[in-house]
Order: sequence, then C-alpha cells, then structure tokens
Amino acid sequence: MSGFDKYNLNAALISALDKLKFSQPTQTQSACLDKVLSGEDVAVEAKTGSGKTLAFGLGILNKLAAAENETAHPHSLVLCPTRELAEQVNYQLQLLARDIPNTKILALFGGVALAPQLASLRHAPAVVVGTPGRVMDIVSQGRLSLGGVRTMVLDEADRMLDMGFSDQVDWILNALHDQLRQNSVTQQSADRLQTLLFSATFGGKIEALSKRYQHQASIIRLGDDAARLNITQVAYKVPSDKRAYAVAAILTEKQSESAIVFCQTKVEVVELSEQLKLDGFSVVQVQGDMEQFERSNAVNLFSTNCANVLVATDVASRGLDIAQVDLVINYRISDDLDIHTHRIGRTGRAGEKGHAVTLIDDEDEIKLIAFNAKLNEDIPIKGGQSLRFHANRIKLPQYVGIQLDAGKKQKVSKGDILGAITKLAKVPAKDIGKIQVGPQKALVAVKLRSAKRILAMFREEKVKGKRIRARKLS
Ligand code: ADP
Ligand code: MG
Repeated sequence: MSGFDKYNLNAALISALDKLKFSQPTQTQSACLDKVLSGEDVAVEAKTGSGKTLAFGLGILNKLAAAENETAHPHSLVLCPTRELAEQVNYQLQLLARDIPNTKILALFGGVALAPQLASLRHAPAVVVGTPGRVMDIVSQGRLSLGGVRTMVLDEADRMLDMGFSDQVDWILNALHDQLRQNSVTQQSADRLQTLLFSATFGGKIEALSKRYQHQASIIRLGDDAARLNITQVAYKVPSDKRAYAVAAILTEKQSESAIVFCQTKVEVVELSEQLKLDGFSVVQVQGDMEQFERSNAVNLFSTNCANVLVATDVASRGLDIAQVDLVINYRISDDLDIHTHRIGRTGRAGEKGHAVTLIDDEDEIKLIAFNAKLNEDIPIKGGQSLRFHANRIKLPQYVGIQLDAGKKQKVSKGDILGAITKLAKVPAKDIGKIQVGPQKALVAVKLRSAKRILAMFREEKVKGKRIRARKLS
C-alpha cells in the first residue's frame, strides 16, 4: 500500500511513482497535494529539497491524463528562472509522465538555437517547461498558443520576479488570459485556469504574489527555512587573498565527493576553477558567459559523479536537484539571505544530511550576524588559520563521462546503452555509473579502466543499427 494511494491518482501516475520508488509523499506533498489535485490555486512555501516538483508535477499530469480528449495543447505551462532548472523540471516531469501515452513535454529556454525548438513545436507539446524570456519570444512570434493552458506553475516564483523577469511573466500571463478568453467565447466551456506558485523563500511576499497571480488561493507555509533542518552550517574567517586556499583546504578536510562552491561573479568562478584544477581537483564550472551546451555538460558531469567540484555563480543556486551533494561552500557570502538559503539548500536534499561552509572577512561578518538574527540561528564562526590543505587527500571522481551523439530523438534508451556496453564491449555492469539520456545526446559515467574499451566499441560496432559517435568529456 503506497502513501499515494489515497489521492485517487491516474493509474499511469501510480505506476510511475512505483518505478521511481516513491512510496510516501513528503511532508510538503502531504500538505498541498489534496488542494493541488482538486484544481485550486495554491501558493506553497516549503524548504529546499522537500519535493515541490513532484507536488506540482502530479497536479499537472493528473489533470492532463483526465483530459484525454481535449485537443488544445499545451495543457500546462511551467515557468522557471534558469535554463538549468527548466531542463531539470522537464526531465522530472518526463519521468513521471512515462506511462501516460503520447505525452510530449518540451523545455523551451534561451542560450540555444531557436530553430530546433520551433521545429519541435510543430507537434504541440502537452506540457511546456520554460524560462520566461524564451517562452515570451515564441508566443509573441505566434509559434505557440496558450489558449489551451489549464495549469500554470511559477517555480521559484519569487526569484523569477526579482531577477527582473516580472515584465516577461506578466506579458505571458496576459497573453494566456487573452487567449483563454477568446477560447471561452467560442467554446463556452473553458475550464478555469489553475495557477500554482512554489518557492522555498517568498520572503514575506507570498500574499502579495498570490494576490497578483492567483484567485482565492490557499497559502501553505511549511517550516520557515532550510537552515535549521538537515544542514550543518559553519563560517570561517579568512582574509580575501586566502579564500582559494581555504576552499581547497575545506574540500580535503571534509573529503567531499560532491561539492558546490558559490562565487559572486563570473570572473571569480573562472579564477577559482583554474586554481582548484592546478591544485589537482576535478572541477567543472557554470557561469553566465559560457555557451549553454557547456553549462549543461558541466552540470551533467557533476551530477553523474564524473567531477567532484562544481564552481558556480548563483545561476546554479535555484532549484537544481543533484543527489548526494555533501558540501556547499560560499566562497563569498551572498548579500541576500534568500540566496544564501537556496545556495545551501543544494545539499541536504530529500532527507539527506548536508554541510555548508561560508567564508567571511570582517565586513562579511556583519552580514552573517544579520542572517543569524533573522533566522534565529547561530552559525558558529571559526578562525581560518586552522584550515590545512592536504594534497594527498583530494578525492578524485569515480567515473569519467562518455558523451554519445544520440538521445531520445534517435530513439536510444538507457537500456540500449547499457546493453551495448555490457554485451558488445563486454564491460561489467559494475563499471557503469549513471546514464543520462537527453533529447539529442546521452552521457554515460564509466570507470576509467573501461573507458577505452567502450570508446572502441562505439567506433567499431553499430548500436540499434546506427553508428553512434562517442567521446570522452572532460
Ligand atoms: P524542491 O523543489 O522542494 O527543492 P525537488 O522537487 O527538487 O525539491 O525534490 C528533491 C528530491 O526529492 C528529488 O530528488 C526528488 O526526486 C525527491 N523526491 C520528491 N518526492 C519524493 C518522495 N515522495 N519520496 C522520495 N523522494 C522524493
Ligand atoms: Mg524546486
């Protein structure tokens, strides 16, 4: 008996939950699922890593599965503040929708060519997950009609608005309401639009946002912050010119397998990454000056344990769900408590334990004290002199990443890849880590000792009747 049984979910969703091995709703899901599923407007403020995506995902997909005969697509629109988050939410919804027949879910975000996205829209998706800018572009070009939308989700709603996307979000919502109105004139039966807002930190603005975007909404607040829960925090006092050394020291002292280091600027990200590479760490970076494919590759390498350290700006602070991040380091403390909460919330997810370390100097100490006061917390401050870098204790990644030039478009599945590697290359399954299959590419994490053999196999053999190009990513 699953804890989800009582919700009267579509059988396809029950079976997907089963495959995902989700047997009990999280506290956040228990608190809002009834209302979400009954079509009400709900605004949810709940800590990072508490399963908000599944809460709205079930809402969207249950309604979609029940509306088989409705032809107007997209049926749902999810807006996210960053491209990486849109990609991830898209992926999670696809996993959840896998047993609902013919459910196309499409991510639309900037930084990548528009043409392929427009081509995918020729057959309208049931669900669109996108960033406000790109969605607005496409809608304003008349390439996507929002007249069929019945559920609208703003994930990380507060962030979208204070990142300066509020004009785009307003534009999209106006377009949506206009098109809905036109439809209801012709069909007379258009259902009401359900609007859902989610974030870990509305910072007191939840009522205002709800008033602006929702209709008679229930406001659900769970706990007040991420900090107190699974995440142990500490701050070290370190002079500015010793910060890079302190990061290296903390990484080796904690023996972290999977750490994210947050910087304030793109330049800091580049410089710190270079330094940590010189020290011998396996590092990837994410910052706004990189091409989108490089950003995606970095996140994928990190989340498949092909790199132990991700150095990033705040583009990576919102929403990203990467399992087993055991450490977050703030190279510089954020000016904003909400951003701090989201950064540290990349660790300690889904009930796991996490550590967060913040480097501060005298000036930053004032910010930290203010955070402590607001959170009613007491993050201990230690002297940085005690931090020591141990070159012989650097953790190296368990895997190297092999990228394949084939994905879902080419009808290549995880099973196909696993089958080819174990049968054709005769590599034991224990040498294969996570496999991620994207729209056009796939990433396979493999033990270094088997990498050559796998690359040779892809050069020599056909998989599913096709020659697939494979290369090592670094
Ligand atoms: P949030 O958006 O609240 O920060 P996510 O939606 O990203 O959190 O979920 C965090 C993690 O918890 C994800 O890895 C997700 O797969 C997992 N998760 C969500 N719901 C459940 C559940 N009911 N049981 C187990 N794991 C879950
Ligand atoms: Mg989230």
